Amino acid sequence: MNAPLAAALTAPNPPASSLAPAIDAAATALEQAVIAWRRDLHQHPELGNREFRTAGIVASHLQKLGFDEIRSGVAHTGVVGLLKGALPGPVVALRADMDGLPVAEETHFPFTSKARAQFNGEEVGVMHACGHDCHVAILMGVAEILAGLRSQLKGSVKFIFQPAEEMPPEGEDGGAEMMVREGALEKPTPGAIFGLHVTSRQPVGEIGWRSGPTMASSDKLRIDVHGRQTHGAAPWLGVDPIVTAAQVVLGLQTVVSRTQDITQEPAVVTIGAIRGGVRENIIPDSVTMRGTIRTFNEDMRDDIHERITTLSEAIGKGSRATCRVCITKNYPVTINDPALTEAMLPTLQRVGGEGKVVNVPKITGSEDFSFFQRVVPGLFVFLGVTAPGVDPKTAAPNHSPRFTVDEAALVTGVRMLAHLAVDWLEAKRS
Ligand SMILES: [Zn+2]
Ligand SMILES: [Zn+2]
Repeated sequence: MNAPLAAALTAPNPPASSLAPAIDAAATALEQAVIAWRRDLHQHPELGNREFRTAGIVASHLQKLGFDEIRSGVAHTGVVGLLKGALPGPVVALRADMDGLPVAEETHFPFTSKARAQFNGEEVGVMHACGHDCHVAILMGVAEILAGLRSQLKGSVKFIFQPAEEMPPEGEDGGAEMMVREGALEKPTPGAIFGLHVTSRQPVGEIGWRSGPTMASSDKLRIDVHGRQTHGAAPWLGVDPIVTAAQVVLGLQTVVSRTQDITQEPAVVTIGAIRGGVRENIIPDSVTMRGTIRTFNEDMRDDIHERITTLSEAIGKGSRATCRVCITKNYPVTINDPALTEAMLPTLQRVGGEGKVVNVPKITGSEDFSFFQRVVPGLFVFLGVTAPGVDPKTAAPNHSPRFTVDEAALVTGVRMLAHLAVDWLEAKRS
């Protein structure tokens, strides 16, 4: 941690906005409504690019609150609302993702999801296993609170409800990148954007933050190894793609360990699937491998891609096979703007309270909030949802069919985003 961050963390009296007491009172009053919204959304989860019901609920909520502008259908099902304060000031954005996952829920609540849907040609159970139901309910709560305070609000708040954070279905476009392309951050362009993610890794109500690279880039790797089919008893008559694939898998282990300066940032190269061959005495024509690449630095990301490609191709050539490498860039590194993080730490401290705001390690998972951060400075923070008495290390993690949220965290989430937005507006204005 650098010196200014340490100083900000220990500041005795973090400055609060003029609306702070009103925000906290309104959040307490709204807590039960936010929980009810979350339960309804939880019981009716929708997959990426299919968030029709969710988007409808969000849009009519913003309408009811008298928002100045509401754009629906952004990047398929996204909703962007603008709330103009009565007083002049800058623009800040808040983002919530809305999609559920193809996971069959295994919890036992009255609001447990029994939803089913088609996903990539298969029928699947659908669950808010990543907690995006919480994100939507929290942001609806923030919208209601700030709409109630608009006569004293100094500037505007843009509310971004985003589809398909967990990737759109195969063959479709979507998510944050598409929202940016469709102008979600234009007219007006915010000066900063804030978002949060609920996590099983922290106890309920605890806030996790990090400056700089926070979540990894995520890229998809596919390698096709082509040899020449032959009898398993006479390998010299063909070209064995299975042994070549094995050499490629081992070769890839050297990309991070032998070529990257791991004192700067960590990185991961994983092969998660290998397919080739049908029986013991046939050497097949080809093998297909799939994997994932995670980095925390865009230059390292490009370098690793280049090395995976050249090394695989060279190993193929050495075996007289061919390796075709295809890397698809999914999400960039989630980078929390250091100046913005430092400026907002007192807000997090005040919202979380003593001992409940922690500097968290990097996460090798990824987030398409990073696409918004490429356009405007952004801060993405974590909110613990694991119940007291449950060890966050062994709690069912996000994406598990048993992922469980302690709803006492929701009011903290509402307060956090509301205070971040208003504190930033007032600090920017003065
Ligand atoms: Zn997720
Ligand atoms: Zn998520």
